[in-house]
Amino acid sequence: MSECLFCRIVEKTIPAKVVHEDDQTLAFDDIHPQAPVHTLVIPKRHVASIQDLGESDQALLVRLLLTCTKVANDKGLADSGFRLVANTGRNGGQTVFHLHVHIMGGRHMGWPPG
Ligand code: AMP
Ligand code: ZN
Repeated sequence: MSECLFCRIVEKTIPAKVVHEDDQTLAFDDIHPQAPVHTLVIPKRHVASIQDLGESDQALLVRLLLTCTKVANDKGLADSGFRLVANTGRNGGQTVFHLHVHIMGGRHMGWPPG
């Protein structure tokens, strides 16, 4: 069994509310939602952060973002808008070191973030 929390969600050895799955990406609702819609989109392959993707990962990066817009649309955010966030490293506030993009919506998002 994987040591990585999100790899375990991919393996389905820990449960999650999965809202989208394809060959390369998985989307599931955040366990501690900070907005009415708060969903995470991850690559199924273990990648620690956005810093670990390179030129050869272009197709995966595109798929990740297309999954984000699909899930946002499915969640009814197309008209109201939403925010995508990829916390990266210590100052970025990353706590789970398997790349994930937060989709947040359903309320106004302040700027700048904390
Ligand atoms: P970050 O701080 O950007 O690394 O975000 C990690 C996110 O993962 C946080 O928003 C957590 O609430 C979320 N999270 C942690 N464990 C789980 C889990 N088992 N299922 C769903 N979301 C989780
Ligand atoms: Zn992982």
